[in-house]
Amino acid sequence: MNDQTIRIHPSVDTGIRHGDPAFAGGRLHCNCAENPVEITITGNTAHNHVCGCTKCWKPSGALFSMVAVVPRDNLQVTANGDKLRVVDPAATIQRHACRDCGVHMFGRIENKDHPFYGLDFVHTELSDEEGWSAPEFAAFVSSIIESGASPDMMPAVRARLRELGLEPYDCLSPPLMDLIAAHVAKSRSAMAA
Ligand SMILES: [Zn+2]
Ligand SMILES: [Zn+2]
Repeated sequence: MNDQTIRIHPSVDTGIRHGDPAFAGGRLHCNCAENPVEITITGNTAHNHVCGCTKCWKPSGALFSMVAVVPRDNLQVTANGDKLRVVDPAATIQRHACRDCGVHMFGRIENKDHPFYGLDFVHTELSDEEGWSAPEFAAFVSSIIESGASPDMMPAVRARLRELGLEPYDCLSPPLMDLIAAHVAKSRSAMAA
């Protein structure tokens, strides 16, 4: 299999587009032709990455989703919010999806003790605007096997990710894993105090 046949995600398959540090935000919309759900984000995204987990929404044919975070106060539902449904109310990240087209508009953590509380997860490919922060790494790479990818193709997938400049990790990136561990350490010492 050559690298061109590995479809990581439509936003990265032809190369990574750089983000614009001065980008002031914009709108994302779902795939409905009529009455699309629209969310408006103030400011740029952070920690954008491709994700191989089974829970993030992916465009059809893609092995990975592409997901970034924004402070929850920077995100507003600005049109057709009545079409949003929480995919799995029991999940840590509550993914608000359009009931008609199935696109996930944003994921939100309601547990205040979670390390990522206060951040919403979004897919900036849903925007017509350019300048959103570029993906920086690949998370949960091995998990694409759970979605049906053949274990045999994993070396080629990892090679393609590296070629794109998206270092593959089988969890989150080291800085984000450190952030989670630091949060756990802090809450433990708070309990001991
Ligand atoms: Zn829709
Ligand atoms: Zn994911």
